[in-house]
Amino acid sequence: MDFLSLQLRIYSDKDCEVSSRNSRKAPDYSINLSTGRFHCPACNWSYTRRDSMLAHYRYECGKPPRFKCPYCQLCSKKTSNVYQHVRSVHPNEAVTLVKLY
Ligand SMILES: [Zn+2]
Ligand SMILES: [Zn+2]
Repeated sequence: MDFLSLQLRIYSDKDCEVSSRNSRKAPDYSINLSTGRFHCPACNWSYTRRDSMLAHYRYECGKPPRFKCPYCQLCSKKTSNVYQHVRSVHPNEAVTLVKLY
């Protein structure tokens, strides 16, 4: 094999490698293969279900909490957490919450 064809071969191998890398599907969102859990790419919080992780990543992660306890400063991203908090910490108050936005 002469030098030129060797060089061409190297280049075509490289092109091949690059294009196959680009065409490959995006990695499945940070699944931890040893635990089988899905990790949020931003905060690394882990979920057993991919949907839950994606919902967290899209709607919760890095966003300020939306719901607040009307009786103290507690804030949460989930209504259920605030309700649970009010029931346990403010048992004599109505179980309600404040929407921050
Ligand atoms: Zn996150
Ligand atoms: Zn409270």
